[in-house]
Amino acid sequence: MEYDYLIVGAGLFGSVFAHEAAKQGKRCVVLEKRTHIAGNIYTEKVEDIQVHRYGAHIFHTSDERVWEYINTFASFNNYINSPIAFYKNEMYNLPFNMNTFNKMWGVRTPAEAQAKITQQIQAVGIAEPQNLEEQALRLVGQDIYEKLIKGYTEKQWGKSCRELPASIIQRLPARYTYNNNYFRDSYQGIPVGGYTQIIEKLLADVRIELGVDYLKERDAWKGRFGKIIFTGPIDAYFDYCYGELEYRSLHFETETLEMENFQGNAVINYTEREVPYTRIIEHKHFEFGTQPKTVVTREYPKDWSRNDEPYYTVNDSRNVALYEKYRAKAVAEKNVIFGGRLGSYQYYDMDKVIAAALALAAQELH
Ligand code: FAD
Ligand code: UDP
Repeated sequence: MEYDYLIVGAGLFGSVFAHEAAKQGKRCVVLEKRTHIAGNIYTEKVEDIQVHRYGAHIFHTSDERVWEYINTFASFNNYINSPIAFYKNEMYNLPFNMNTFNKMWGVRTPAEAQAKITQQIQAVGIAEPQNLEEQALRLVGQDIYEKLIKGYTEKQWGKSCRELPASIIQRLPARYTYNNNYFRDSYQGIPVGGYTQIIEKLLADVRIELGVDYLKERDAWKGRFGKIIFTGPIDAYFDYCYGELEYRSLHFETETLEMENFQGNAVINYTEREVPYTRIIEHKHFEFGTQPKTVVTREYPKDWSRNDEPYYTVNDSRNVALYEKYRAKAVAEKNVIFGGRLGSYQYYDMDKVIAAALALAAQELH
């Protein structure tokens, strides 16, 4: 046997596992179908600015152990995510907080804001939300739903808010303080020098083969390894035998502009339905850059088909049930372990992915 572990995918999950396994003296090879490592957290320098090639990535966690772990591979700046929403020429602070309510209704105190929202919630009278629209109306009322949620969400997911699960917007509750920090976690920041260097360090002692799609080359690897860690889509591994799981894809349009500052913030969301993109990222603001030029990326949501990157899983009841069928098959698959965002069909942030990879390493490598 040439390798103890064949790891499919050089993203965060595969790389943390490979690093831990190599540390224990295991022989690992990582196969990656893209031409670079780091999966969706890949960053590259353009005009001396770290560009997040696959969408904005802000590291945030309340998990002490994960924070300590990631800090051994990079130091983090003190960036705090404070996105702004643009709706028909009006700008609102996110997440929904006193700044948002003040702009929306002119209210000044938490009591005034609460009274306004309660009045709107009572007007729609929803006790048990059955879908995202009802959940939003029940949490923040009509005005915020119409201006800041409906259009954005329908673009992002390609479905009516009535067809989407309520769970998607549990991340966006109302907050009655003048605080624009999007996340509630204890730790947050952007790695100085970008994310790719973290993966380079994780994989420093591991053999990597880029541009290799394992699913097209299974035969060539047969019999050469003990176990597989598979971080690609679980349905693709089984050749979609129960049908396709649903994903959302994205199209990124990136351009360099001959100006120092385009929009004054790292992230601006475009919440009206008529604008085809969901957000514009101005990368330099993640690292407080003062370069003479700037790089911006527009993010366009799109339907997924087999030739597209599956960026988001769609965890509604149909897909969760289908995933359970694949998961049962995965458990029965000898010497193959599925992990990461696609292998476990979960909307995982980076900290959850690290925690899951470390848990797997602890279980596998004791
Ligand atoms: P991936 O990064 O997808 O890595 C899997 C790798 O496997 C890929 O490189 C893929 O090419 C490769 N692969 C797949 N199939 C095969 C095959 N057959 N053969 C060989 N290679 C294969 N998280 C946060 O914490 N904060 C954020 O702000 C944040 N923003 C995000 C924004 C966007 C637009 C997206 C899409 C995600 C965001 N995330 C964020 C989530 C974050 O990207 C993930 O948690 C993390 O990248 C998952 O790592 P992974 O290794 O599971 O998956
Ligand atoms: N969302 C919204 N308006 C916004 C931003 C987000 O309605 O301005 C909703 C939308 O349904 C989205 C969800 O909140 O899918 C989560 O958005 P977030 O930006 O937190 O997640 P990401 O897309 O970065 O994973």
